[in-house]
Amino acid sequence: MVQPAPAPTRYRAITRSNVEGLGFWGRLRPETREAIEIVSQVLPFRTNEYVVDELIDWEQVPDDPMFQLTFPQKGMLEDSHYRRVRDAIWSGAERAELDALVESIRRDLNPHPAGQMTLNVPTLDGEPVSGMQHKYSETVLFFPSHGQTCHAYCTFCFRWAQFVGLEDLKFANKEADDLARYLRAHPEVSDVLFTGGDPMIMKSRVFERYVAPLLDIETVRTIRIGTKAPAYWPQRFTTDDDADELMRLFERIVQSGRHLALMAHLSHPVELSTERAQLAIRRIRATGANVRMQSPVVRHVNDNPDAWVDLWTSGVALGAIPYYMFVERDTGARGYFEMPLERCWNIFREAYQRVSGMARTVRGPSMSCLPGKCHILGVTNIGGRRAFCLQFLQHRDASLVRQPFFAAYDPRATWFDKLRPLTASDEPYFAMPGVETRLTGVTVGASDASTIDDD
Ligand SMILES: *Cc1c(COP(=O)(O)O)cnc(C)c1O
Ligand code: SF4
Repeated sequence: MVQPAPAPTRYRAITRSNVEGLGFWGRLRPETREAIEIVSQVLPFRTNEYVVDELIDWEQVPDDPMFQLTFPQKGMLEDSHYRRVRDAIWSGAERAELDALVESIRRDLNPHPAGQMTLNVPTLDGEPVSGMQHKYSETVLFFPSHGQTCHAYCTFCFRWAQFVGLEDLKFANKEADDLARYLRAHPEVSDVLFTGGDPMIMKSRVFERYVAPLLDIETVRTIRIGTKAPAYWPQRFTTDDDADELMRLFERIVQSGRHLALMAHLSHPVELSTERAQLAIRRIRATGANVRMQSPVVRHVNDNPDAWVDLWTSGVALGAIPYYMFVERDTGARGYFEMPLERCWNIFREAYQRVSGMARTVRGPSMSCLPGKCHILGVTNIGGRRAFCLQFLQHRDASLVRQPFFAAYDPRATWFDKLRPLTASDEPYFAMPGVETRLTGVTVGASDASTIDDD
């Protein structure tokens, strides 16, 4: 199907510094404007005109899912934090005083869930290699230093910490070299997953510098790119200056005999509803690359089965492959977005029941936690007790993968660290490196027991 190309548009970021000058600002209710001003001191936002003009339905604001996903909301800060920031601003506090307050609140928000900085960092010649993570044998995550920002900041994202100037927490790796050397030393790695930030923020020629050396390494069979660009800036693949260059690079990767997958972070069906987004998916697929869809299930955005049915079926119609539904992780505005695991499972199940096998390639809900990726199979009764049935889709110890196990039912549990083994035989699945595991009483894992996921 041939479509006329949409007119090019220039990328223009919308942040706290220019939002007040934009047309929609005056149409927002005063309390919505106040919330954006106050909360964005702590949790910055960044979006762009495409999201504002084509994805947000301003008649539905503040409930509109894309508005919730991209703009700060009052409930993202605890009341006491919100009041302290508001009072500081209203009383005309000095910049330094406000900065100190904001910093202390950010530190409370678990900016780097445990394990992310200290575990899984590989070594080369005995030295830790920054900008890389190797947790599961077959797959290396790579964070190119030029890709450490995003087209927009999703309000629930753990990566917010990278965007707010906590420099010491930043992953960076200028040396694509290190990556290549590491991969040559580790032939067991078949997959390289570019993540960030958003690697698609990079110019095509910069991305090429990172990816081209991998095409000389035979053991690398799959290159994945985790990106939100098809949703937030599909022009990256269509009308941007170097969009064609990127498509040629994709073709080159595919022609080298490798699987190229765009791991598209898609949260809501409206993201696939625009002509620009659909054209982007078509162009990507025309290079021979695959598009796979993944994202967390979050309150206020996609907490209903209809949204997922619509997302998966419209994705499949465009040739995209549903991959993971994640559980919202334990960082940032978690309290605003998280849901009980049972509810996540119900949303998944109800949506899954209504799609054909073509969309049932999706797995979830899955928690990317410290031991691995934990798949919630469901809530059931076993030996007269109510329990979660679980399995690991990934685990540091591969022998534990795909072994069903049980956790005591807890209707309020929102993350793996809240779950307890149902019986003694379930205990090995709850073991955390360096953390004691017991059947009763003592906490299993720290409250921050989680690690990075791969959106
Ligand atoms: C999710 C994840 C991967 C990729 O896992 P797949 O199941 O192959 O998609 C790799 N490394 C880390 C650390 C991850 O969290
Ligand atoms: S990394 Fe993904 S989820 Fe996080 S802000 Fe960027 S696009 Fe959003």
